[in-house]
Amino acid sequence: MGAFWPNGSKTNKPRRTREFGYRSSIYKRGWHTGTDTSGYPRNHVPERGVVERCYYDGSYGNTVLVRHHDGVLSRTAHGAAGGFLVSPGQVVEDGQALLVQGTTGMSTGVHNHQEIILPDGTFVDPEQWIPNRGEAPAPAPAAGGNPLGYFDVPAESQFYYWHYGNALIGNYASNQYLRGGQTLAVVENPGTGPVRVRAADGDLVWVGTRKNPARVRSGAAPAPVAKRHLFDVPAEGQYWYSKYENAFTGDYAPDQIMHGGTREVVEDPGTGPVRIRANDGSLIWVGTRRNPARTYWA
Ligand SMILES: [Zn+2]
Repeated sequence: MGAFWPNGSKTNKPRRTREFGYRSSIYKRGWHTGTDTSGYPRNHVPERGVVERCYYDGSYGNTVLVRHHDGVLSRTAHGAAGGFLVSPGQVVEDGQALLVQGTTGMSTGVHNHQEIILPDGTFVDPEQWIPNRGEAPAPAPAAGGNPLGYFDVPAESQFYYWHYGNALIGNYASNQYLRGGQTLAVVENPGTGPVRVRAADGDLVWVGTRKNPARVRSGAAPAPVAKRHLFDVPAEGQYWYSKYENAFTGDYAPDQIMHGGTREVVEDPGTGPVRIRANDGSLIWVGTRRNPARTYWA
């Protein structure tokens, strides 16, 4: 229980210079939407999340806005000129430093203005919210755990993300494709859109975004899967390998180039390369670990 104070500590609360709420002060009157603290060098995030914006505002000065797993936003303001330590789309961990403390914008001295904004737009008191914050969704269970349902990869394949934060906002920077037509076990479902699935090679990856949630299917049995697993040789030709090991690394000189036509996939270890049946009936490998063969079901 509890998130991190803006000085990066979970236990040592920083010195407060102005409290949240309706209170007059020497400098301003009216509602104060956050808590001001000072006496430490950098402004830290209360918990893991995704950096939504880094910007300058006439009132807030240099500001970082972070979105957390349940849609809560945290804002840190008045950072030093040139003091941004993160960038938009970046996943930040519990208590990570976001901004060098400063006094940009409407500010009378070096301090941190920390806000907590609920998904409905309500500002809440950080001094109450931080120590009472519940834990983030539990990490994925170990390999072999019971699935929470199944995810049917669409025929045309599916983006996946290594990090929950990237999936949440659909940040395509670190994406990859899951091969179409597979059924994968769901191992974690925070209920926010993305779900974590176990890929064919055992990796745990995220699919779906907040805007386009993953469709999770319940039930014990994998879906009846389609007809034929196929690979189209690109027009410009395709390297092939006689050995799986060579295809996997792609480091070896390719054996041959093939041209034209659709081939049947006869083996798919789920690691990138697939084995296809050539026109002469021989079985050869295409694709590598880094550049998986694009196959489909039809
Ligand atoms: Zn303030």
